Amino acid sequence: MSLQEYERKRRFDATPEPPPRLESKSGHRFVVQKHRASHLHYDFRLELDGVLKSWAVPRGPSLDPADKRLAMQVEDHPVSYFDFEGNIPADNYGAGSVMVWDTGTWQPLSPVPVDGKYVPTTDEDARAMLAKGDLKFRLNGKRLKGDFALVKMRGRRPGSKGNEWLLIKKHDEHEVEDYDIDHYDSSVLTKRSMDEIAGDEASAEWRSRPAGRSKLKAAWLASAVARLDQKKAAEKKSLAETKNTKPKTKAKAPAQTKTTKSDPIDIRAAAEEKKTKKSRRRSA
Ligand code: MN
Repeated sequence: MSLQEYERKRRFDATPEPPPRLESKSGHRFVVQKHRASHLHYDFRLELDGVLKSWAVPRGPSLDPADKRLAMQVEDHPVSYFDFEGNIPADNYGAGSVMVWDTGTWQPLSPVPVDGKYVPTTDEDARAMLAKGDLKFRLNGKRLKGDFALVKMRGRRPGSKGNEWLLIKKHDEHEVEDYDIDHYDSSVLTKRSMDEIAGDEASAEWRSRPAGRSKLKAAWLASAVARLDQKKAAEKKSLAETKNTKPKTKAKAPAQTKTTKSDPIDIRAAAEEKKTKKSRRRSA
């Protein structure tokens, strides 16, 4: 495992993202980050072997087994990226706002069913399944729960970069028909919306440093939440005072941060995915 590509793409004097650091001990956490970069997407990350294995999912994960979501594998991220929420400044790689959309734990599942059921298995099996391009796992998050598979696509798409996988929900008691991800636009960490995160300049000032990091982060979170509460209280008051006029304290939606660097998301691939889904429905 290496974080060289993560390091190569970023300037750590200019981005609030955490520095590349391999962890010697690994847990089994996962995070989904909603990322409003040049194209909105969701980053799906699984903690394994001291890093976060990462995929960019243009349409986001789904709890509907009928949705096969394109997931482009991207560079491994440091484990400390797990709770990164804030704004990556313009002219930086991935410039835009990042929200912690879901967090929890994951377990690798046996590559083949045992007595008709997929059961938790070892990291060794997880590594083998990843290498083979067919990883089965169980999530226990705040929003995502149940069994999933990440399946690598093998050159079926013209111009494929070889990093394309599909994220698929398995049938179980956690599946949700016609799952609508847009229904959930709030951080599981701070409850903020994407616009609130984008408008919070203090987030951009957050520096994730190994020394005293948790203290800094806690201060940042506390002040962000306090500001949000104040704003909401002010809005409520203003609304009550002037029932027919819009509250003046309402935060302006900030202009979307411009990006000049290339982004891992290929909008063409996302469009292809949509087409595939439609034609599948037609033939169904
Ligand atoms: Mn991203």
